[in-house]
Amino acid sequence: MSKPLRGAKLALRVAFDRQRLALLGELNSAVRTIEHFIDGRFVPPDSGSWLDVIEPATGGVYAKVAAGDERDVRAAVEVGKRAFPAWSGLAAAERSRLLLRLADLIDERVDELARAESIDTGKPISLARSVDIPRSAANFRYFATAILHTQSEMHDFDGGGTPGGVPALNYTLRRPRPPGVAGLISPWNLPLYLLTWKIAPALATGNTAVAKPSEVTPMTASMLGALAMEAGIPAGVLNIVHGTGAECGAAIVRHPDVPTVSFTGSTGVGRWIAREAGDRLKRISLELGGKNPFVVFEDADLGGEGGAIATAARAAFTNQGQICLCGSRLLVHERVYERFVAGLLERVGSLRLGDPLEEGTRQGALVSAAHLEKVAGAVETARSLGGKVLIGGSKPGTAELPERCLGGFFYRPTVIEGLDPACVIEQEEIFGPVVTVQKFRTDHEAVALANGTPYGLASVVFTRDLSRAHAVAGRIQSGLVWVNCWMVRDLRTPFGGAKQSGLGREGGLEALRFFTEPRNVCVRY
Ligand code: NAD
Repeated sequence: MSKPLRGAKLALRVAFDRQRLALLGELNSAVRTIEHFIDGRFVPPDSGSWLDVIEPATGGVYAKVAAGDERDVRAAVEVGKRAFPAWSGLAAAERSRLLLRLADLIDERVDELARAESIDTGKPISLARSVDIPRSAANFRYFATAILHTQSEMHDFDGGGTPGGVPALNYTLRRPRPPGVAGLISPWNLPLYLLTWKIAPALATGNTAVAKPSEVTPMTASMLGALAMEAGIPAGVLNIVHGTGAECGAAIVRHPDVPTVSFTGSTGVGRWIAREAGDRLKRISLELGGKNPFVVFEDADLGGEGGAIATAARAAFTNQGQICLCGSRLLVHERVYERFVAGLLERVGSLRLGDPLEEGTRQGALVSAAHLEKVAGAVETARSLGGKVLIGGSKPGTAELPERCLGGFFYRPTVIEGLDPACVIEQEEIFGPVVTVQKFRTDHEAVALANGTPYGLASVVFTRDLSRAHAVAGRIQSGLVWVNCWMVRDLRTPFGGAKQSGLGREGGLEALRFFTEPRNVCVRY
């Protein structure tokens, strides 16, 4: 290895280790900072302002993150534009090689990244290690290989049927929308998993990126910047900016040289982005909120790890209910209602709540104090509307938590029945460890209840009747329907929501198409 290259590698290793040590609290507070990653370097915010980053399990500030604004976004977009011609001009096989290397580096650092994700979000470390981080590597691997197997359309025109027509061949090229910089904005619930779900297809198709993680959970995105450099991804191709949505996120959406915006987050912010992007004629993809139904028919397999009860408990409470795909409305046939609810309460009662950094923990902390209060407030509203809390319904007592976590944002997994399906608790997203249960009698009623909210992201149907499964899957208004399973993700499939849950689709071909535009070339012969 040449001397300068060895020097560069060493510098990157130092940058990565600095982030890691800062995270572990092993350096003094002056270096516990998360800077922007622009043009292959960590740089402080132009404003000189920083935001607190809080560890949800303790409630303590453990890092500071750059409070980026329009100036930082402008700088990142400039370098992204500059890097675009060379990056998009690389052979697909070369882009693929670099992205595969990045996937390998993520795998190599799975323990460090999982620990960082757990500290940053409050999620159990076992979940971060088994789902979040491996899936982030898989995102890169999938799109790095998908670009090696693309096809393009060709239309052979015989010249007939149109005035002045001549024989010609039309073929379709797909290229990033000029000037080639994609704006990628993601939420706090699956920080690295969702950000890489956007970065991977954007970079694989030849775009450069200005990516913004949630200001609430910025750590692993920052670590990814260091890994991207270590993988040899050229400076300026992946830029990561930090800051609030109102300052930094909005600056990405409004920047005239960011023609493509991929956003995952709340429906309210999605609507705002659609308005702003509409004015500027940008391509947008919006993955938004949900209020997902989980339908259990009377013939469903209830027992066992793959059965309806265990699956419903996982779908409701994985990541403390903070996954957009969580089944938060359990719709259960009256004939199996009692059995189902009894089984569910038993499962929920055995979920171990505690320090997210302990291996056996199954319920960690909610992401922030504000979110905890929102969730607790929703349960109070449910009570005031006549809902009966069957389990949970409060913060855990001090005896239930280790000393380290007494200031953390914990809430007991909660099951509520007896609410009117039209009430606010059944209609609006809570995004926490709270589910409701409703009874139904007929298939028609089940589908009407499932479709009876403004959202349509994901749904689950449990039945042993194949005809019924197909019929119901065809009638449920959601972007994803799982039959007898939950959150089984094949990265080739279209991912996204109907109604107020989003616009456009991610995943597979859909993502490759979103990050490129077709260009028809007509050649006379
Ligand atoms: P949020 O909408 O508040 O923020 C999401 C991201 O957008 C953050 O990075 C934030 O800083 C940024 N942002 C906020 N305002 C912005 C603005 N005006 N312009 C540009 N960027 C802005 O959402 P959240 O609270 O971080 O995440 C929870 C929400 O995300 C829930 O509604 C959940 O359902 C949704 N979600 C959806 C999916 C999906 O795939 N459909 C996946 C995960 C989460």
